[in-house]
Amino acid sequence: MNSYDVAVIGSGPGGYVAAIRCAQLGMKTAIIEKYSTLGGTCLNVGCIPSKALLDSSHHYEDAIKHFEEHGIDIPGEIKVNLKQMIARKQSVVDQTTGGIDFLMKKNKIDVYVGTGSFKDATHITIVGEETTEIEAKNTIIATGSKPSTLPFIEIDKERIITSTEALKLTEIPKHLIVIGGGVIGLELGQVYKRLGAEVSVVEYMDRIVPTMDAGVSKELNKVLKKQKFKMNTSHKVKSVERKGDEVIVKADNKKGEEVTFTGDYCLVSVGRRPYTDGLNAEAAGVKLNERGQVEVNEHLQTSASNIYAIGDVIKGAMLAHKAEEEGVFVAETIAGQKPHIDYKLIPGVVYTWPEVAAVGKTEEQLKEAGIDYKVGQFPMRALGRSRASMDLDGFVKILADKTTDEILGVHMVGARAADMIAEAVVAMEYRASAEDVSRMSHAHPTFTEAIKEAALAATDDRALHV
Ligand SMILES: Cc1cc2nc3c(=O)[nH]c(=O)nc-3n(C[C@H](O)[C@H](O)[C@H](O)COP(=O)(O)OP(=O)(O)OC[C@H]3O[C@@H](n4cnc5c(N)ncnc54)[C@H](O)[C@@H]3O)c2cc1C
Repeated sequence: MNSYDVAVIGSGPGGYVAAIRCAQLGMKTAIIEKYSTLGGTCLNVGCIPSKALLDSSHHYEDAIKHFEEHGIDIPGEIKVNLKQMIARKQSVVDQTTGGIDFLMKKNKIDVYVGTGSFKDATHITIVGEETTEIEAKNTIIATGSKPSTLPFIEIDKERIITSTEALKLTEIPKHLIVIGGGVIGLELGQVYKRLGAEVSVVEYMDRIVPTMDAGVSKELNKVLKKQKFKMNTSHKVKSVERKGDEVIVKADNKKGEEVTFTGDYCLVSVGRRPYTDGLNAEAAGVKLNERGQVEVNEHLQTSASNIYAIGDVIKGAMLAHKAEEEGVFVAETIAGQKPHIDYKLIPGVVYTWPEVAAVGKTEEQLKEAGIDYKVGQFPMRALGRSRASMDLDGFVKILADKTTDEILGVHMVGARAADMIAEAVVAMEYRASAEDVSRMSHAHPTFTEAIKEAALAATDDRALHV
């Protein structure tokens, strides 16, 4: 039987990063993945394929809506070749997952293909084409999550679908009903909106992206409505039924009236659930909480002291970069180091266009905590860079402590916000004040000038270009 210092179960961004860091630290490491490709949800059916389709559909939208204004004439009709679009997405996925195979080899990590389940706290049975057993001094559970649904919805994977199926449709929906106005629903909704579908978002809460800052959520709602999304907030879905090629969704609106949506596809994007099926966690003494998450302490150690858990399968934001940080954290903990993660500074991004990105506290959280704060906000449309690319929507908002000027939260909607948020993370990691950022040179013309201007506005209400 092969013996390891560390076995990692699950090869998503949490698991494969943990395995690499363990190997870098000199530990003999194995990784176990039930699917034949590595990379987990993120690389196979999550972050990477969704961004590939967002990019392709963005090019199409630019071509049909904006090329003419840029002075680019295309003779003949511009058409979507969905088959090719999906094939390109798959080749991006294949290259990326292939990259993980390379990294496993480079770091001398043994890869086992099969479902890993605990025999006891130091032995794992792997059921794949063959059944193998390995011994591991330490194990990292990184089994991730799966799409969740509502109890009365039956996902048929044809017309009533999750994000996984939405990434490989063979036709453009005529009317896509998206249940859930969160990140995944809006991103995939935008892909098909751009390709010509009518898109109706049905959201239970009174606003889309409800966990983000209310100002950001309002701005995104405004922009998406301008893009002809049909937004239905404060709607409680009560039934989803398939009739032939039609899907009928019934919901109660704020007034308690029944509203019926009829479409040809319904994307159910109401969140994800931690995935521990088949893991046999009990045999190792690993406890789950009432939400089905693996219970961990501040060292991400489970109720079995040699077993750790990271990523979507534990509490916290279900984000690839959060899982990665935790992978490194646990590897370094096992190696006897004292790593640290600042969970307050994990950025959140929505990759619609304009993009939305945020880090730190929202206005609602600051109010609830009774913290006195000031706001500096700057509109993207006031930037030369925005006019050059015609990306005029959105703003950058900086929330700073009223007394100390320390930046407490940064929220933005705008072109390339996903990349711009890194500046806010760095500033906040070093506990910068709004004035610190306002005094730093930002290249001109760039979208990041909006961060400097918002910092100026927060410092002394002295933005320069409004
Ligand atoms: C459509 C979509 C878009 C997304 N976009 C983004 C984004 O832009 N940015 C972002 O940060 N996050 C995004 N996410 C979320 C992101 O994918 C997850 O947060 C991330 O993948 C979690 O990583 P993980 O390592 O915890 O688990 P996962 O990536 O879910 O990987 C877990 C792996 O464990 C394997 N596994 C499970 N049980 C076993 C077992 N018993 N034995 C062996 N293998 C097992 C699974 O097969 C899987 O491969 C998106 C998700 C979706 C669905």
